[in-house]
Amino acid sequence: MKERLYLFDTTLRDGAQTNGVDFTLADKVAIAQMLDAFGLDYIEGGYPGANPTDTQLFSEPRKLDARFTAFGMTRRPGRSLSNDPGIAALLEAEADAICFVAKAWDYHVRVALETTPEENLASIRDSVRAAKARGREVLVDCEHFFDGYKANGDYALACARAAYEEGARWVVLCDTNGGTLPHEVEAIVGEVAKKIPGDHIGIHAHNDTEQAVANSLAAVRAGARQIQGTINGLGERCGNANLVSIIPTLKLKPEFAEKFEIGISDAKLKNLAHLSHTLDEMLNRAPDRHAPYVGVSAFATKAGIHASAIVKEPATYEHVDPETVGNRRRLLVSDQSGRSNLLAELERIGTAVEKEDPRLVRLLDEVKEREALGYAYEAADASFELLARRTLGAVPDYFNVERFDVNVEQRYNAVGKRVTVSMAVVKVKVGNETLISAAEGDGPVHALDLALRKDLGKYQQYIEGLELSDYRVRILNAGTEAVTRVLIESQDETGERWTTVGVSSNIIDASFQALMDSIVYKLVRSGAPA
Ligand SMILES: [Zn+2]
Repeated sequence: MKERLYLFDTTLRDGAQTNGVDFTLADKVAIAQMLDAFGLDYIEGGYPGANPTDTQLFSEPRKLDARFTAFGMTRRPGRSLSNDPGIAALLEAEADAICFVAKAWDYHVRVALETTPEENLASIRDSVRAAKARGREVLVDCEHFFDGYKANGDYALACARAAYEEGARWVVLCDTNGGTLPHEVEAIVGEVAKKIPGDHIGIHAHNDTEQAVANSLAAVRAGARQIQGTINGLGERCGNANLVSIIPTLKLKPEFAEKFEIGISDAKLKNLAHLSHTLDEMLNRAPDRHAPYVGVSAFATKAGIHASAIVKEPATYEHVDPETVGNRRRLLVSDQSGRSNLLAELERIGTAVEKEDPRLVRLLDEVKEREALGYAYEAADASFELLARRTLGAVPDYFNVERFDVNVEQRYNAVGKRVTVSMAVVKVKVGNETLISAAEGDGPVHALDLALRKDLGKYQQYIEGLELSDYRVRILNAGTEAVTRVLIESQDETGERWTTVGVSSNIIDASFQALMDSIVYKLVRSGAPA
């Protein structure tokens, strides 16, 4: 029999503290549903009573399989329960569980709460009792638990025990400042587990020494059975424990997988990369390419000798199978790559060729030449795929841009404000048809993109769902003159993402190349007829 570990997601509450993150009510509802479908046990939605969005979020039942959790403070010192509006808002919230945050460090009780250690303990007990009387499951986040434990172990433990003895389902030990190290977490949780059963202990770690994931796992080793964290490690300062790294570790690493089970099935685990990227998308952030398990680079190999070994026996160079988390192996094609990278990559895109095919040498030479000019094919998988397909003679001439014109104008608008506007006109030939489109945009590249995608005649239907999701520019010093490299990330209605590259001494021209590759790639992938 495996022991059950519970996962508590606080993306919508602690994660919402991230600099630059501002969830709307609609965002919160959509994210809660996404997390629920993924199989998390608890979803903390926010702090009802603290702001209008969260109050509204908890104004009606949310019908989730996960336990939807409201967060708030324990009864204020010196007040009665009935005279505390914060408690009232929490008890009224449409939530399955209530998570109280309580001070567990006597220093904070004195200085921040300005009350006595005894009154703080009474406040914890009263709050737990009130929420239980309302039929809610209760969690108590013991704030600054580890720092408090080091300063006054007896008092920190007394706070945790007050919560447990009063009937809290979970006593959550918080590393609020995020400065505790894994061996300390393991030792302290081990001590707490002698007084409170481990299947009532949770861990809430912050990432200030980049060890929030390690600290969470250390707590589990010492007996804790609930892990709190956020998707993509969102959270204030350096973030919270990243569930996107914790979940596959629990599922795929034998030390944990043989001992524990979690609410996320193997099939759901395959959605992990998608879940992580979808949240980034909602926040309008580019996904971290180097994120463990789910990043584009997480299973990417560059050097030729490694690549030939990977093709023969993937386990030699990969700590887990990338497919298990919805990622894939990438053999980077660059000027350092050998034939085996290239062969494997061609096979993946469905254009396998014989090892001795002379076109292979031509393609490799082409990649090397173009990389010397500034193209970066490891970062631009779609441009590489097109280059490969072209060398093998497999890309139709769908359309031809005969000319384009982009202008940038700065002027005063009707209310006397200085504005910069860009306009692009594109003349495209599709078959025997000549199409002219114009568009205004925030900048010249935006205008050009809109004009290019406005009317492609018979191909328009294939690119309706295409949009740009990221645009990166770098100035490179190639030889004597500076050139501009543009990387464009695009996505379509299915959620597929791809990156294209353009290089030129002119930024508009570099952008144009990358935009063209993106559109042509989409046409190839959609199986558009020549
Ligand atoms: Zn926190």
